[in-house]
Amino acid sequence: MKTGNNYDFLIVGAGLYGAVFAHEAKKRGKTCLMIDKREHIGGNTFCKKIEDINVHVYGAHIFHTNDKKIWDYVNDFVPFNRYINSPVANYKGSLYNLPFNMNTFYQLWNVKTPVEAKRIIEEQSKKHQTKKPQNLEEQALSLVGEDIYYKLIKGYTEKQWGRKATDLPSFIIKRLPLRFTFDNNYFNDNYQGIPIGGYNELTGSLLEGIDVQLGVNYFKDKEKLEQLARKTVFTGKIDEFYNYEFGKLEYRGLRFDHETLNLENYQGNAVVNYTEAEIPYTRILEHKHFEFGQQKKTVITREYPLEASSELEPYYPINDEKNNSMFLKYKKKADTDSIIFGGRLAEYKYYDMHQVIGAAMAKTKNILGS
Ligand code: FAD
Repeated sequence: MKTGNNYDFLIVGAGLYGAVFAHEAKKRGKTCLMIDKREHIGGNTFCKKIEDINVHVYGAHIFHTNDKKIWDYVNDFVPFNRYINSPVANYKGSLYNLPFNMNTFYQLWNVKTPVEAKRIIEEQSKKHQTKKPQNLEEQALSLVGEDIYYKLIKGYTEKQWGRKATDLPSFIIKRLPLRFTFDNNYFNDNYQGIPIGGYNELTGSLLEGIDVQLGVNYFKDKEKLEQLARKTVFTGKIDEFYNYEFGKLEYRGLRFDHETLNLENYQGNAVVNYTEAEIPYTRILEHKHFEFGQQKKTVITREYPLEASSELEPYYPINDEKNNSMFLKYKKKADTDSIIFGGRLAEYKYYDMHQVIGAAMAKTKNILGS
């Protein structure tokens, strides 16, 4: 590692934002020192090898985009496989395809044509039309009717938010896409897949030739670290950066329980959602299916939602009015700072992977030119 004020950039955080920023800066002749407080690169995309299976330790990550430029960009670092996300819902022991499509309608009502399916949805939702739905339950019932709502939405949503659907605001569900084709592909994007060999291949390749130090918390040695570079790129929590002076931003939490099973194939699909309220987890992932694995054993993960808090590992930002207006105060301050803030934690924003890659590419282009 170089010492002294030698680097152009100190990059805090080895997630996708930091990795793309570092790669793009290096391409333009700049030097970067990257640190991460975790013991691995990749941020939340990190995969841990267990029984030769790439386990998505921070939750299922499926790459999907409509942007050909971003698809070509990531494929230049690692080839992607042909994985298509087609989750299945388990409600009281019966299985239904997701997203809601003709397969789901067949499983619910034994209907075989779009006309029949539309007729049932119309009949069931007609009874619930109101001018202004007062809560999420009223909103969902008016959009899809009773069967889809009670079997596939209510329990799952209540578990996710830790609140009754009648206590949740209606704006959480703006639309509920219904597909009148036999198409189980969860995403509508043109490009989709998983990096062959897992996400560490992608971040590892982006970070080739970059000095990386792991297990280093920026806040423990801020002054010393900042002296090592001319400019800092910060991808951690913006409220923590400013010592929570305007308050703590909240995130929805998750707990992941990983289990190795002495079994070749547990559920035959990468993602199975549990949509009834009585089962405490929301989904079970079986990681080998992301990569069509043939290993002798399998690794599954039960995903449990946790109460929103500012103390937990930050997963999903809660962009309600209170948090958004708090974030704006931080942003105003950040706009006058010489630090570059980027990524999901610094921008307090849910970013999909392709979006965070696009944001980091745009930023480097903006400050360093094409
Ligand atoms: P991160 O990956 O969080 O990286 C930030 C890094 O900064 C972390 O490694 C952290 O340790 C480090 N850091 C923070 N503070 C400090 C500090 N003080 N000192 C040193 N290091 C620090 N996207 C998709 O496209 N498809 C999906 O299927 C998908 N599934 C998801 C599932 C879950 C459960 C979650 C939470 C997200 C999912 N995403 C998905 C989104 C994806 O994870 C993000 O787009 C991406 O990880 C954002 O990258 P980032 O660099 O902004 O943040």
